[in-house]
Formats: sequence, C-alpha cells, structure tokens
Amino acid sequence: MQQVDTDVAVIGAGTAGLAAYRAVKARGKRALLIERGVYGTTCARVGCMPSKLLIAPAEAAHAVGRLPAFGLAVDGPVRVDGRAVMARVRRERDRFVGFVTEGVDMIPTQDRLRGAARFIDDRTLQIGEDVTVRAHAIVIATGSSPAFPAMWRALGERVVTNDDVFEWDDLPQSVAVFGPGVIGIELGQALHRLGVRVCVFGRGGGVRPLADPVLVAEARRVFGAEFPLDTDARAEVARDGDDVVVTLRDGDGGTRVERYAYLLAATGRRPNVAGLNLEATTLALDAAGVPRFDRATLRCGDSPIFIAGDANDDAPLLHEAADEGRIAGDNAARAPDVRAGARRAGLAIVFSDPQIAIVGGGFSAVRDSPHVTGQVSFENQGRSRIMLQNRGRLHVYAAPGSGKFLGAEMLGPAAEHVGHLLAWARQLDLTVAEMLAMPFYHPVIEEGLRTALRDAQAKLVAGDVAPAGAARADMLMT
Ligand SMILES: Cc1cc2nc3c(=O)[nH]c(=O)nc-3n(C[C@H](O)[C@H](O)[C@H](O)COP(=O)(O)OP(=O)(O)OC[C@H]3O[C@@H](n4cnc5c(N)ncnc54)[C@H](O)[C@@H]3O)c2cc1C
Repeated sequence: MQQVDTDVAVIGAGTAGLAAYRAVKARGKRALLIERGVYGTTCARVGCMPSKLLIAPAEAAHAVGRLPAFGLAVDGPVRVDGRAVMARVRRERDRFVGFVTEGVDMIPTQDRLRGAARFIDDRTLQIGEDVTVRAHAIVIATGSSPAFPAMWRALGERVVTNDDVFEWDDLPQSVAVFGPGVIGIELGQALHRLGVRVCVFGRGGGVRPLADPVLVAEARRVFGAEFPLDTDARAEVARDGDDVVVTLRDGDGGTRVERYAYLLAATGRRPNVAGLNLEATTLALDAAGVPRFDRATLRCGDSPIFIAGDANDDAPLLHEAADEGRIAGDNAARAPDVRAGARRAGLAIVFSDPQIAIVGGGFSAVRDSPHVTGQVSFENQGRSRIMLQNRGRLHVYAAPGSGKFLGAEMLGPAAEHVGHLLAWARQLDLTVAEMLAMPFYHPVIEEGLRTALRDAQAKLVAGDVAPAGAARADMLMT
C-alpha cells in the first residue's frame, strides 16, 4: 500500500473540485486532486453546455414556425436533420470539454490521482486498492448523479438520462420525459421543437423550480399549450420489445397506453456521497446521508472536512459550485482558522421558452413571512408583444415596513437577463423604491419589471400584505 501525504485532498475534479484545488494552491499549500471518472466536468460534458447546444437549434426551428405570424413565409416546413443536429451538439460539447481537460493537463502530475476515494477516518482516504492519502484537510466535491426509481432499470437501455442524451447519433422518434423540472422541461421542449414526439410527465402538478402557485399554474398552461405535458400523471412503465410502454390511469379507473422509443429520467439528482464510506468519519449526516455543513464556511461541523458543489445538495448550480469550491479550498488550506466566504444572491435560470428565473430563493423563501407580491402579466406587455414573446408572468416579493426587495419568480421573455437585474438588486439590498428610481428605457421588456415593481410599491404603501403562510391556501385552490 502506497501512502501519499498532502495538505489538502480534494475528491472530485469537477467545477467545485478544480476551484478548491486552485484555492489551496493560491495559499501556497500542497493539494491533491482525486478523480474516479473522466475529466471534463458535468457542466461541460453532460450538463449546462450540451443542454444549451440542443436548445439552440430547437429555438431556431421554432422561430421559423413563428414567421407566418409576422407576415413572413418560407417555402415549406423546417426539415430537421437529426444526425447533423446531434453531430454539432457533440462537436461543440467536445470543444468545451477540451478547454477543461487542457486546464487539468496543466496541473502537475504529482498533484493528480486517479481512482475512487473513500474515507478511512477524518484525515485519511483510500484510493482504489493500493493508495492511502493522509491530509491535513479534505474537500468533498463529488458532484451528483441522476436519480430515478430502481424499477425503471428493467427498461434496460431504453431508460436514459442526461448522461446519455448528448451521445445520441440521431434524434429518436419519441421520448417520454419523466420529471417537469429544469432538465425535463429544457430537454423535453427542445426535443419537441426538433420534431421528436414527446410527452413530459410529472406527479403532484409542479413545474420546478417554480413554487409560486400562480406561476406554476401559468407554466402548466403555457408549456401545456405547446407540447404534451401531464404534471400529475399516474403512470406505470414497462418494456415491450424496443418500446417503452407508458400506461396512464385516469381518475375513473380507465387506462390509456402510449408507446415511446425512450424514457428520459429527469426525476432529480442525488449527491454522490454513498460510496465515500462517511460512516468511518465523525461527520453528522442528514437523512439523505449528506454531511451537515456550514453554508458560510463549507466546513462539516468542527471536522477537517469541507463539502462543496452538488455534493452538498444546497444550490446545485454551476456558479454556486465554483464559489463553494473556492471557499472550501481556501478554508481547507487555512483550517482550523476558517472564514465565512462571500455568497451571492440566489439566482437560478431555466432555459425553456419562455424562460424561468428564480431570484433570492423565490416564493419558497418568502411564503412563511409577511410579504407583498407585485405582479405583471407579459400578455399585453408592449415589447414582448411586438416580438411575439408575450407569455408568462413576473412576481416580485417585498418586505412590508422596510420595502426591501426580497426575491422574484418569473416565467417570461428574457428571464435570464431580467433575473440578473433582480439578483443584483437583491444582493445590493435595494428597496422597491430604489429599484424604481433606476433607468428604464422604452420600449423594453424591463418595462414589465417596472409594472411589477410599481404594483409592489402600491401594495407596500396601501399595506396590502399577504400574512405568513397565506399563499398556501392559494396553492390549494389552484
Ligand atoms: C442537464 C444539466 C443541465 C444543467 N444546466 C445548468 C445550467 O444551465 N446552469 C447551471 O448553473 N447549472 C446547470 N447544471 C448544474 C451544474 O452542471 C452542476 O451544478 C455543476 O456541474 C456541479 O459541479 P460539481 O463540481 O459539484 O460536480 P461535477 O462536475 O459532477 O464533479 C464531480 C466529480 O467528482 C468525481 N467523483 C465522484 N465521486 C468520487 C469519488 N468517490 N472519488 C473520486 N472522484 C469522485 C466525479 O467523477 C466528477 O468528476 C446542469 C446540470 C445538468 C445535469
């Protein structure tokens, strides 16, 4: 058994792990980056980048379909060349992955170790069969993996996840997408627009990450008007030959059977902590087996162990993984003298059409305290209507008394940009009045934001406040 000594061992060479490694080195300490799989990160290989590469041609194809509404015409319908679409997805994906692996290649070989890490104690790891690593501190940056019901494994290669989709050579004929969340809505809508027969199935009526019941209902209506969407399906799945057979039960005991080439499982992701043998450490674990940790320092209790990125299941987003990796790596290098790292205002975006943006934790963060809700529908919003993008709503939440802007949920045009404006306002701790004092050009989508802010301001002045928990009753009614 070979033993390696280091100051900080980082488990996982994804976005969080690479940021942690760099932060340790920036403190002049020794670091060891341990990776069990291929280099290249989830973001570049199977996540953020290839999903947007699939969405881009889907949006282009859809835009052509909107031309007649502007009085324009092209000769015949758009023909989708599935092989060419997927070839570009894979080619551009490989380019992004190449940038990451080039960066990894620059890391000295003595700082890199290949193999799966598991804990022997708080400061010792075993890598594969032959190597142990002794470290002053350890950063867990092991990411997350798709999670779906075990019984779907009986579908064999007909059940796929985002790990598989971007390897396709061609677009399939049909896909049953399970899970109307970020991944399910993004990929389901893109596949639909590329001519794949799709239905997106869910349970309980939600369209994640929206939580505001009015926005959820709007999302069901807007997306359901474009592609088959059943957010409260009672479905059983089975395999028949090369088909996935989805049997749907209605409330009256009747059934309907649909057949698909694939089931795309977009039913959530689980932190990669199960194989780490955390039982050998002193860490307190939550019900899901994830170590309890301090969000400001990323430290697990008083231990020399830190946890960053999707592995801690707090904010599974790329920019959060990068921030957390940096904070965890810096603190691991200086442990036990740890410092609270700067965290940004919450911002999450779904690249659907219309897009979704959640700012400051959205409705979930305000529903249990008194708040006012400023609202706007984009249906009659000037610029949105000009561009035929007049769908969706924006709700902004503000604190009675202080008038502080707390957060927002948006389903609407250019939500990726409006979301940034709102997240910056949240981080600057602005009041609604201060936001209204900012410039608004004409005619722009941001004038819709101004309408919502004016509505919030009027409610703040009038004392039109939703008491804590009031919206739960709304939710039951929708
Ligand atoms: C389809 C999809 C679309 C997405 N789109 C977006 C988006 O648009 N915007 C956004 O902000 N976020 C998006 N995300 C989320 C984002 O990709 C993740 O939050 C981010 O990549 C997580 O980075 P990480 O470093 O925590 O994990 P990873 O990049 O997954 O790194 C973890 C690494 O740890 C390794 N590892 C695991 N266990 C061990 C072990 N025991 N020993 C050694 N190594 C181990 C793994 O092999 C892996 O390389 C998307 C995700 C998906 C799946």
